[in-house]
Amino acid sequence: MDDQGMPLEGLVHFGTNYDNAFYDGAGHMFFGDGDGKTLTDTTKGTDVVGHELTHGVTQHEANLTYSGQSGALNESCSDVFGVLVKQYHLGQSAQQADWLIGADIVGPLLSPALRSMKAPGTANQYDHQPATMDGYVRTTTDNGGVHTNSGIPNRAFYLVATGIGGNAWEAPGQIWYDTLADPRLRPNATFSSFAGLTLRSARSRYGTASKEANAVSSAWDAVKVRAH
Ligand SMILES: [Zn+2]
Repeated sequence: MDDQGMPLEGLVHFGTNYDNAFYDGAGHMFFGDGDGKTLTDTTKGTDVVGHELTHGVTQHEANLTYSGQSGALNESCSDVFGVLVKQYHLGQSAQQADWLIGADIVGPLLSPALRSMKAPGTANQYDHQPATMDGYVRTTTDNGGVHTNSGIPNRAFYLVATGIGGNAWEAPGQIWYDTLADPRLRPNATFSSFAGLTLRSARSRYGTASKEANAVSSAWDAVKVRAH
């Protein structure tokens, strides 16, 4: 996770009926069993495990501040690489995948999933994620809505992946990882500065007029984020 072979521990059955999974920033992942209504056993979702591990990768690369837009980008990167773990495991192309997060760990209250990268705001009855900047939520709860506004960059990645086609863990994942590892990505990054760096990553790896770069550009346009 830190490119230095750090030890990593996964702690299961954390707490009692605990409705969450989290990474503590120090090499430990905690997985609750859920209460059976909101969540079930949180180890069942490969996307959720990938999500938590990616928080560690992000910490060691961009160290995106967990608040406001940089916090929503931190959450979104975890959803992106989490969903890529799941799609790779299932051998699903971007077209075949359901783009849901947490479908294997939700109880009846949050069924069918925690989040949808394809259609933010439609994953369950409490899902209020915006799909574009028009719906950006200004709030002081949840560190400035980090789990809400992540819907915007999540949908941008979905659009990039389906725009390019094939397996999302190939070119689309490479572009996002190049961006996360780019030293120009600052801890206080905004959606716009992140978008600008994904475009630079796509252009430098695949070419200025490549279909990859074009897909990145139109995806951010579609979610109404100006890339700069
Ligand atoms: Zn998270």
